[in-house]
Amino acid sequence: MPEFCDVAVPVPLDMVFTYRVPPDAAPVVGGRVLVPFRQQRMTGIVVELHDRKPNVTTKGILTVLDAVPVLDEQLLQLGRWIADYYLAPLGEVFRTMLPLNAEFKRSIGYRLTETGEMTLHQAGISGSSGRSRRTPEEQAAEFRVLDYLASRVSDEDDRGVPHLSPLLRDVGTLADARALIREETLRSATKVSRSLLAGMVRKKWLTREDASAPQDATRTIRVATLKSAEGKLNENQRTLVDALAASGGRVPVPTLQSLDVPQSTLATLVRRGLVEILDEPAEFTVSRSKPRPSLFDFDLNAAQQSALSRMRQSVAAHKFSGMLLHGVTGSGKTAVYLAAMRGVLEAGRSAILLVPEIGLTPAVAADLHQIFGDEVAILHSALSDKERAEQWHRIRRGDARMVVGTRSAVFAPVADLALIIVDEEHDSSYKQEETPRYHARDVAVVRAKMSNAVVVLGSATPSLESYFNAKKNKYALVELPDRVEQRPLPEVEIIDMRQEFQETGHEQVISRKLAAEIKERLDRKEQVMVLLNRRGYSPVVLCRTCGKKLECQNCAIALTHHKREHKMVCHYCGFTAPVPKACVHCGSEYVYFLGTGSEKLEELLHGMFPQARIARLDRDTVRSHEDFERALNALNEGELDLLVGTQMIAKGHDIHGVTLVGVVGADAALGLPDFRAAERTFQLLTQVAGRAGRGQTPGKVVLQTYFQDHYAVQYAARHDFIGFYEKELQFRSWMHYPPYSALANVLVRSDKLDDALQWSGALGKWFDSTRHEGVRVLGPAAAPIMRLKRDYRYHFVLKSPSRKNLNTTLRAMLAYAAQKKIPRTQVIVDVDALWLM
Ligand SMILES: [Zn+2]
Ligand SMILES: [Zn+2]
Repeated sequence: MPEFCDVAVPVPLDMVFTYRVPPDAAPVVGGRVLVPFRQQRMTGIVVELHDRKPNVTTKGILTVLDAVPVLDEQLLQLGRWIADYYLAPLGEVFRTMLPLNAEFKRSIGYRLTETGEMTLHQAGISGSSGRSRRTPEEQAAEFRVLDYLASRVSDEDDRGVPHLSPLLRDVGTLADARALIREETLRSATKVSRSLLAGMVRKKWLTREDASAPQDATRTIRVATLKSAEGKLNENQRTLVDALAASGGRVPVPTLQSLDVPQSTLATLVRRGLVEILDEPAEFTVSRSKPRPSLFDFDLNAAQQSALSRMRQSVAAHKFSGMLLHGVTGSGKTAVYLAAMRGVLEAGRSAILLVPEIGLTPAVAADLHQIFGDEVAILHSALSDKERAEQWHRIRRGDARMVVGTRSAVFAPVADLALIIVDEEHDSSYKQEETPRYHARDVAVVRAKMSNAVVVLGSATPSLESYFNAKKNKYALVELPDRVEQRPLPEVEIIDMRQEFQETGHEQVISRKLAAEIKERLDRKEQVMVLLNRRGYSPVVLCRTCGKKLECQNCAIALTHHKREHKMVCHYCGFTAPVPKACVHCGSEYVYFLGTGSEKLEELLHGMFPQARIARLDRDTVRSHEDFERALNALNEGELDLLVGTQMIAKGHDIHGVTLVGVVGADAALGLPDFRAAERTFQLLTQVAGRAGRGQTPGKVVLQTYFQDHYAVQYAARHDFIGFYEKELQFRSWMHYPPYSALANVLVRSDKLDDALQWSGALGKWFDSTRHEGVRVLGPAAAPIMRLKRDYRYHFVLKSPSRKNLNTTLRAMLAYAAQKKIPRTQVIVDVDALWLM
C-alpha cells in the first residue's frame, strides 16, 4: 500500500491535502476517508495514492469509510472537469456529487483533560474545591460529568468509528486514551446544561472537539411477522391475526396500529410468541398518489415517431451525440422522452431524465412508477438526506436504471449510461446558484461525452446557447412544429397599456379588453389563467413627502407589502417589518402603497367576478410539491374557474379546460440591466401562452404590456422562435455576449463596506496592470443589487471569445486574491452566469 494519499476535503480551498496512510488501512481512489482537518473531522474523497513524501508534516487518515469507490473513474473525471471549468474547489464539487450526508453525522464531543482528572480526584477526597462560588447542585453536576468521562476509555468512544488504533499508536499519549463523548450522549447521561459544559471547558477541565463520524443511515421500519395462530384468541387479537394473515403474514407495525383495536393487543400477541416484531430496512415508496390513467399512451404521431427513431438510432450507435428537440408547447415531447427511455431499459442500459425543479410533482412520480416500475429512482429536493442516500444506493447497485430528477440527478451513479435527457433545457433552475456554480445541462453534455452516450436537450424555447450550437451542427436539430392532434397554437392579442392609460385616464391593472374576455370565458364555463410575475400585495411603499422607499435592513431592495400576513417582506433575504403607518425616514403620514402583486390581483379579480372560484399559485400559497399539485388538480377537475399566479403557472402543465391566458405583468424584466432580460421575457411569454387551448377548444392569450414594440413581446405574440432568435443573436454579437463569448461574473462581497471597496479596488488595479490575452474586463462596479443579505457587493464582468483565456485569467485572479489575503469565500466566481444582479 502506498504511504500517502491525496484527499479532496470539502472546504473552500483550491487544493487537495496529503495524509499518511496508516499501516493497516486500505483507502481506495474514489472512496471516502475520515480525516482530521484543522480542529475538525471531515469526510474527503481520495483522489490519489502515492509515495511522494511531502515536505510538510502530515497527519494520518482516521478511518477508511469505503472499501470500494463511491465515485467511479468517470465521475471522478467529471468532478475534476467541473472544478476546473467553474473554478470550484474539488472537495466541494465531490460533496455536491454525493448525496450521502446522512451517512456522516456532524457533532461535538467532550474529552477529559489532565486538570479535569486531577480535579475529579481532589473532589473525591475533599468533596469540594474550596473558594468556588458554585452552588452545591452545580458542583454535583460537574462531578457527574468528570466522573462519567473518566469512566470511559477511548475504546468506548461513541463516535461510531470502530477503532482509532493507528492514530493512538502514532501519538501514544494518555490524552488520546481518554474518550471523546458526544454532547448528546454526555448530556443525557449526566443531565447537565450546555452552559455548565462551556464553563468546564473554560476552566480547562474538558476540551470541546469535533466528534463528527460516519453512521448507519439506513431507515428502518418495524414489521410484525405472524409466527403462529394457535391457541385461543379474543376478538381484538383475532382482528390483528387476520390482518396479518391476509397480508401474507407480514405487516408494518404502524399499519396494525391504525386498526381499531387497543394498542396493548399487539404487545400481548408478542408476549405469547404468536407475533414477532423486527426492524427492517424501509422500502422506499415512490409516491402515494394514484397514477393518472393513460396519461402517456405511446401512440405517437409522425413527428414524434420520427424524433423517437432518431434518438433510438443514436443510442444504438454507442457513441456520443447531442440532439436539440425543439417542440412547440403541447407537441408531446414528454411522450417521446419516456418512449426513448423505455427502449434503453429494454436494452438493459441506463438513462437519466433531468426536469426543472417545479416539474417533479407526486403525480409525475406516480406516472413514472407506472411506466418503469421499480426500475425508476426519483430524486427531488423534498427528499430527506436519508431518502436521498437510499436512492443513491439503489441506483449504484443497479436496482434502478432509470433516473428522473432535478439538477443534481446528473451525477447519478448509473452504470452503462446510454441516454441523458434535459427537459425544458432553458430553465434557470438547472444552474446552481452556490458553489460549485455548475449548469446541469452543460454537465449533462460533458458526462454524455465521457460515457459515449446520447444527450437530448428539449424545449419549446431553447436557450440561445443551445440553439446556436444546434445551428452550428454541434447538435442535431429535431423539430416538433405542431401541437398533438393538430391543435392550433393560441391567438395572441397585445394590449398597449400606455394607450389604455390615455383612454381611461387612470392606471389599470386589468385592461377593459382582458376583463371582457375573462367574463366571456366564465360565462361559457371555461377556465382562465392570469399571470402576474410578482408576488405579494404592493411591491413598493413610497413616502410622498420625502420621496424615500421603505427598504430592507439587509438589502438594497424595497420591501413588499403582504396584506394577508400583515407585514412587509424582503423577497431576497426574508427580512420582515411591520406595515408602516408613517414614513420611517421623515415621520410623514403620506405613505403610499404602489404597484400590484399577485395577492392584490387575486383580490381585484374577486371584486370583478364575485361568482368565480379563484385560486392563487405563487410561493406564498405553495409551500410544497403537494400544494402545487393540489391547485393544479383542482383546476384540472373543474373545481376552479380562474387561477392567478406568478411564473409557477407557466411551467409545463397540461390542463385542457384553459381557453384564456391573461398576461398582466411579465415584461417588467425588460427594464432590468441584464442582457438575458429579453430572452427570459420571450421564454416566459411563450411558455405561459402555451397553457391556453390544450384541449378541444382553441385558446386565446391577452398580453398586456408597456413595451409593446419590444421584439421579445412581438415575436412571442407571433410564436416566432426563429425570428426572436435571429434578432437576439444580432444583439449578442454586437455586445460580445454569449453565445459569442464566454462570460464570467466575479463578485466581491463583505459585510464591511471598506473591505468590499478595498478588495474590489485591489482586484481592479490588478486587472488593469496585468495583460490578459483576449479577455475584456468590465468593472469594478457596484452590483445592480448593491447590498444583499448584509453584504456590500461589487462586481466585474469578464468576457472572452476564448474559454481557455477566460479560465487562465480567472485562475490568476484567484491566486492574486489569495496572495492579498482576500478570503476565498468573499470572491465569487460565476462562470456562464445567468444573473448579473
Ligand atoms: Zn418620508
Ligand atoms: Zn433583504
